Amino acid sequence: MDDSSGLKQKKLEFTLAAVSQLSSSSLSSSSSSSSSVIARFSADSGVAELRFHRDSEFIDGFNVDIGTSQLFKLGPVQSLCVSESSGASKEKSYSRAVTIQFRNEDESRDFHSAFEQWQKDVIQGIHLPNGAIAASKSKFDYKIEPSSAKMYFHYYGQLLHQQNMLQDYVRTGTYYAAVIENRVDFTGRVVVDVGAGSGILSLFAAQAGAKHVYAVEASEMAEYARKLIAGNPALVQRITVIKGKVEEVELAEKADILISEPMGTLLVNERMLESYIIARDRFLVPNGKMFPSIGRIHMAPFSDEYLFVEIANKALFWQQQNYYGVDLTPLYGSAFQGYFSQPVVDAFDPRLLVSPPLCHVIDFNEIKEEDLFEIDIPLKFIASVGTRVHGLACWFDVLFNGSAVQRWLTTAPGAPTTHWYQIRCVLSQPIYVMAGQEITGRLHMIAHNAQSYTMYLSLSAKMWGPGAVQGGILQTSSGKLDLKEPYYRMSQPQSYTMAQDQQPQQLLQAQAIPIHTEDLDEAELLRQPSENTGPHLQ
Ligand code: SAH
Repeated sequence: MDDSSGLKQKKLEFTLAAVSQLSSSSLSSSSSSSSSVIARFSADSGVAELRFHRDSEFIDGFNVDIGTSQLFKLGPVQSLCVSESSGASKEKSYSRAVTIQFRNEDESRDFHSAFEQWQKDVIQGIHLPNGAIAASKSKFDYKIEPSSAKMYFHYYGQLLHQQNMLQDYVRTGTYYAAVIENRVDFTGRVVVDVGAGSGILSLFAAQAGAKHVYAVEASEMAEYARKLIAGNPALVQRITVIKGKVEEVELAEKADILISEPMGTLLVNERMLESYIIARDRFLVPNGKMFPSIGRIHMAPFSDEYLFVEIANKALFWQQQNYYGVDLTPLYGSAFQGYFSQPVVDAFDPRLLVSPPLCHVIDFNEIKEEDLFEIDIPLKFIASVGTRVHGLACWFDVLFNGSAVQRWLTTAPGAPTTHWYQIRCVLSQPIYVMAGQEITGRLHMIAHNAQSYTMYLSLSAKMWGPGAVQGGILQTSSGKLDLKEPYYRMSQPQSYTMAQDQQPQQLLQAQAIPIHTEDLDEAELLRQPSENTGPHLQ
């Protein structure tokens, strides 16, 4: 009857007919007749408690620690609450019991479900100081909508999706090379695999000589990982699979090195980077290594008339004034906006870029979890050509900063395609630029509780020409997009294919616009954004 969410908000207090304490010589009781007794669930003291009040006075000695108590039904309107011990202050404590008399059966039932809910939350460790109960305990559950998390882990619990990642040979091959070429970082070390999935990275780390690998995986995939690892007898002794969220599990020892593949579209989609950071803070020894250690989001304006027209045309359906006699046009504007709110995911030709890209660096060793809640990137480009700009193209790369070999995993346009492809945020209003002209703007991303981001993009350029005032007119185009709702444009034939074994840099050199991805040392790299782009990017 009472759903648990309503219960959390409303049912913190219950009026009772009476309450009395057993096993106490000074038996206190109260009857319903004149002064009512209130049972109040609270977490004010930092412990989830059930307290009893009469005439707004707290009845001393009656408080019940919910975590260590049990509630039994003695009858339709009478229950017994037994506490194992009476709390920290007593040297030796005895069980205590409180009998509770309800006014009616409904209230008894409501009280029991409230008690049960509180108890669940206590077991999970959460009670907030303001007396409200959070749905559960961990940082993850606190910020992520349960329905989103459920779908997310359901997705990763399926082998076909793990296979999809494993079959991204650019991805998996780069991880393999980065680990095996850097045996020196793994040999004899304790490793934590953050979000182990099938366990593949744990197996790589064990191959590279890890002393022990803790493979932490929250989805049902943990069972498959166990099976896979068990089938590799040379490595099984050195890998322990732990099913649970990295925010919640406890490990027997600290890690010398973390390995993880937490990257989503545009690096940050799925908000798993935050889990990687939490794992760093929970499990990694000071100055331990992270594989990968740095991520960069690269961005550049692009021009793609075909893509723009394709998206704008999708909404034309709603221009019909006689669809089975129905005028659809009232929804045209919303449909139009809706299509432009989807970031386009596909592989595009880097020749569509209008200027050299800039990048936003995320240093996994240093960044705080909260820094990822809001990512605000000022944009400043110089157009290489005169054209119509249709939006912002984005991709990312990550660095394995091994002691022996540094390796980048890149998802850049023109580089061998990965399952991440690239993403493009298309603006519903293109802007005109001339060669050499400055394009400014902002990409502002705000994390939401469905494990993704709302993106606010604006691009501006000055417009000159007949009629324009001196100094030009500023044209600005803005859009709001949801990174969670991409448009996978994969049915489109790719205009080019790249040999998978070519180095990204070789490929990129063939392009008109240089995309810097490789061969920077870490210090250089961290300096790079401010030097290259003027505005502070991280
Ligand atoms: N490491 C594997 C899988 C990468 S996909 C590979 O490289 O092939 C990311 C995995 O992390 C998924 O299986 C997902 O279920 C898991 N994951 C995501 N967030 C997690 C969290 N907070 N705690 C534990 N596992 C998580």
